[in-house]
Amino acid sequence: MRKTKFIFVTGGVVSSLGKGLAAAAIGALLESRNLRVSMQKLDPYINVDPGTMNPFQHGEVFVTDDGAETDLDLGHYERYTHAHVGKKSNFTTGKIYESVITQERRGEYLGGTVQVIPHITDEIKRCIKLGADGADVALVEIGGTVGDIESLPFLEAIRQCRVDMGSDNVLYIHLTLVPFIKTADELKTKPTQHSVKALREIGIQPNVLLCRTDRFLPVELKKKIALFCNVDEAAVITAKDVETIYEVPLVFHKEGLDEKIVKLLNIWTGAPNLKKWEDIVHRWKNPVKEATIAIVGKYVYLKEAYKSLTEALYHGGIHSRCKVHLIYIDSEELEKDGADLSEVFGDVDGILVPGGFGSRGIEGKIKAINYARVNKLPFFGICLGMQLAVVEYARNTCGLRYANSAEFNKDTENPVIDLMLEQREIKDKGGTMRLGAYPCTISDGTLARSIYGEAEISERHRHRYEFNNDFKDALSEKGLVLSGTSPDGKLVEIVELTDGHPWFFGCQFHPEFKSKPLVPHPIFREFIKASCKDKKAKK
Ligand code: GLN
Repeated sequence: MRKTKFIFVTGGVVSSLGKGLAAAAIGALLESRNLRVSMQKLDPYINVDPGTMNPFQHGEVFVTDDGAETDLDLGHYERYTHAHVGKKSNFTTGKIYESVITQERRGEYLGGTVQVIPHITDEIKRCIKLGADGADVALVEIGGTVGDIESLPFLEAIRQCRVDMGSDNVLYIHLTLVPFIKTADELKTKPTQHSVKALREIGIQPNVLLCRTDRFLPVELKKKIALFCNVDEAAVITAKDVETIYEVPLVFHKEGLDEKIVKLLNIWTGAPNLKKWEDIVHRWKNPVKEATIAIVGKYVYLKEAYKSLTEALYHGGIHSRCKVHLIYIDSEELEKDGADLSEVFGDVDGILVPGGFGSRGIEGKIKAINYARVNKLPFFGICLGMQLAVVEYARNTCGLRYANSAEFNKDTENPVIDLMLEQREIKDKGGTMRLGAYPCTISDGTLARSIYGEAEISERHRHRYEFNNDFKDALSEKGLVLSGTSPDGKLVEIVELTDGHPWFFGCQFHPEFKSKPLVPHPIFREFIKASCKDKKAKK
């Protein structure tokens, strides 16, 4: 078996430069050369995982098949590569310390003093190897920005990796910013110089620099960066802003990044095949249809909170060559007196209510679902969105006026959505929901069946509440189709309307986590298909 080579991706100057995306795009490029990659993210914060963190601060919590609640960058990894992403793919400072402290309490350090170096750094290195999963190349992204106090143990650990594994087997790629300063009419290299200096002070000499800019770096500038940062000129790569994030692998390739990586790591591969990526970028840039989708939620000011969701909608668009316009609507606004829904949704082709927690904005979401149902607009409800579609149907079609989810009203007479039995005794918040992949059986002759084209599927979950089976008969008698259930029939997983509505679909799981640009998820593909119109036909 070939030995795994490691690529460590760090970031400097500012956050939000797209480090996760860059790592994912490198993964895609290496796969295009027939290499098997693994992907991992090390996060310096102290939370054990991001599961309990507020999406306003941290963005989406990405859920893996094996039920890990992880950083949203893992979503990029899965969308761009075939790497198996799961519990071993995301470690935080909290998780590393939790493990070391547990060992200490068990007496496993035999009376020794437990220290950051070597005990914490050894544990980090153990986790890095765990994530490598026997791949040809293991890509490891370090969260945060070089210079942060909390990233130091991670940087020290990856510094040691090169000493442990040899310079042929370890590569450091550093993402920096090269800003264009308007008043000087010039691109500036100083932030990059400082950021590399900070890395070198802790013993890491980057081999490749990815320079985030809004324009291609001229040769002279690359030469300057190379000289000041002590890297090869061919290893100064322009990471230019692009129209679609799926163009990033192509831009990196044009800059010679994959060529440089395989050379530095001393790996022989054939020529890369990027045909599929070229094809989706072409489809993205040349749409023939368009659709405006309203996402009715509460994190409307932080799009990162709906990362996988927005990407999955775009994947549906790529499939149909449909330009997808997304508008984010704060559901609380719909609750206000005088809110005119026909004005809000007048130009919208489809409504989506995503997952969520907590009671804020719930009634607004129910109003939006009612609007979509009555006005026969394509509707897609995910997790909370599906639960509220059930509440809306119960209230307005089944005469259950006080129907609600027990999450929002514990004492409701009609808890059509209720806490799952196994959730009742749980007090801890972290990692205790129904998490990860579960099978679902789909009934014949339903919209769900036509979407999936098969009866047995598996999708990822993250919830505590479920459809209350006491109301099964009442709701089905009035036309709500319960088209997907757990194989034992106990948990309702999909609801839909088959008669008289063009496309009304709600699922208890999160299909957005499994959509990829090259393989759009069937529900998103069909939702966009149902919502889009010819470009010219649209006003
Ligand atoms: N809050 C709901 C529950 O816990 C829905 C969760 C979600 O949308 N992910 O069941």
